Amino acid sequence: MKKTRHLCVVFGDQLDHQSAAFDGFDAAVDAVWMAEVDYEAKHVWSHKQRIAIFLSAMRHFRDELRAKDYQVLYTELGSNQDTEKFSSCLTRDLQAAQPQKVIVVRPGEWRVLQGLKKVCREAGIELELREDSHFYTTPQDFAAHASGRKSLRMEFFYRELRKRFDILMDAGKPAGGDWNFDKENRGSFGKAGPESPNTGPRHRRDTITEAVLELVEQRFGDHPGSLESFAWAVTREAAQQDLNQFIETRLPTFGQFQDAMWTDEPWLYHSLLSTSLNLKLLNPREVVDAAEQAYRQGHAPIAAVEGFIRQILGWREYVRGIYWTRMPEYIDHNAMGAEEPLPDFYWTGQTELECLKQSIGQTLKHGYAHHIQRLMVTGLYALLLGVDPKRLHEWYLAVYVDAVEWVELPNTLGMSQYADGGLMASKPYIATGSYIHKMSNYCQHCPKNPKVRTGENACPFTTLYWDYLMRHEAVLRGNNRMALQVRNLDRLSESERSAIRERAGRIRGKS
Ligand SMILES: Cc1cc2nc3c(=O)[nH]c(=O)nc-3n(C[C@H](O)[C@H](O)[C@H](O)COP(=O)(O)OP(=O)(O)OC[C@H]3O[C@@H](n4cnc5c(N)ncnc54)[C@H](O)[C@@H]3O)c2cc1C
Ligand code: SF4
Repeated sequence: MKKTRHLCVVFGDQLDHQSAAFDGFDAAVDAVWMAEVDYEAKHVWSHKQRIAIFLSAMRHFRDELRAKDYQVLYTELGSNQDTEKFSSCLTRDLQAAQPQKVIVVRPGEWRVLQGLKKVCREAGIELELREDSHFYTTPQDFAAHASGRKSLRMEFFYRELRKRFDILMDAGKPAGGDWNFDKENRGSFGKAGPESPNTGPRHRRDTITEAVLELVEQRFGDHPGSLESFAWAVTREAAQQDLNQFIETRLPTFGQFQDAMWTDEPWLYHSLLSTSLNLKLLNPREVVDAAEQAYRQGHAPIAAVEGFIRQILGWREYVRGIYWTRMPEYIDHNAMGAEEPLPDFYWTGQTELECLKQSIGQTLKHGYAHHIQRLMVTGLYALLLGVDPKRLHEWYLAVYVDAVEWVELPNTLGMSQYADGGLMASKPYIATGSYIHKMSNYCQHCPKNPKVRTGENACPFTTLYWDYLMRHEAVLRGNNRMALQVRNLDRLSESERSAIRERAGRIRGKS
């Protein structure tokens, strides 16, 4: 092995040729370190497609680096080296390479950063942490924005970034005359359903991907999900094709049907770009710029383009800011005192409740569900049932191909479960089954009735919605944005209240 000056650690979600880790990289004296380790697939019970996408994309990236004559120290699962944890692999390789310094870009998990610091400290080797230039903002930018504010709201941060980066701005004013076109983005499909929706990712599997799929089946055969449909982008080139195709064909309808759902249509008009963004195969700037250009050229309406850009420039940056400024305490928040276990059917999809069967079924099949399925079906059910937010977090982190803790945790704990007591969202996102009925055709295929709250054919979402209001009445009455919903409780008689309680108890299996 050559004598190493700097060892640049690259984790599986840092596959960016422009990464700050490579600033000043000299292939003559520096080396890259990457490792496939069992613990990252097992610490939450990861979906097989989630494991496969990381491994395949890492192997492709390694080969691209080697083609540039970079020295890459790479540990493969299935080799006869120790592959248990990244800390044990790195400790071993540091002893052999004895670099002057380890360089890393801020990783996607607080736990990983702490582990890395410990390994370097114990090896007596300097660690240089660099900020991730992939993102528009740094945790320090977010901390400055949050400083002195009584409450945090994505919208304010988003507007600041629109101005700062001159995105969708016309002479200092928001393009189209408004900052936010959300009201136009809540359409549902008519009776005929969606017209020519997306067929999903369709990338050909090459020999690297085939080998990874075989390895995953062999090594993690008992993990949830199926590999059958695996066709995700695992290279930058494939991710760029996905971006172009989305801008060309689906962006114009993205906004209008952003919240809609339909039986056996897992993809609809969504971009399916989250994995490529989170693995860093795509840069958010090129995605945002392509969307803005589509608006400027008259290819897509402002409501669709603004709605799409808000997800990336707004939500994606905002949740990362929350994560890095609030960890490690954030993961333990449980403001509503929720302690129920996660229902077993989250891991199997075996339930008669059609909306959950569809959303979980496609998750197990493809490792994907869109935002409203995550927020207003699986997330809402867990919230109303009172599932322990940490158990739910472990599920979301395990089952989606795009799941990395910095983005998954604030979405789960904060946005979906209100477990941070209102830091992320101004009120809990709660609704009866009527919301799902309005936004999808799921209820047509379900034995339950979304309008009914008690009795045998009551929709559990509807029963549990009223039960949630009753259980948290005191807290919710103190929240102005919940006032209308809580006031409806006053119309319930004592016998209606006890019928709801009794039914909710049955749903939880407690009566
Ligand atoms: C409980 C819960 C858990 C989630 N876990 C994850 C996760 O692990 N990883 C992840 O990337 N997203 C997560 N999200 C956000 C969102 O659901 C996904 O980004 C989106 O569904 C990915 O599909 P898409 O690429 O087709 O997105 P589109 O609907 O096409 O949206 C475009 C892009 O905007 C970004 N985006 C959209 N919504 C959000 C959001 N709320 N937060 C951050 N970025 C957003 C994504 O990068 C996405 O690719 C979660 C949401 C909820 C409610
Ligand atoms: S009736 Fe209730 S449980 Fe059934 S699909 Fe509709 S919302 Fe879901």
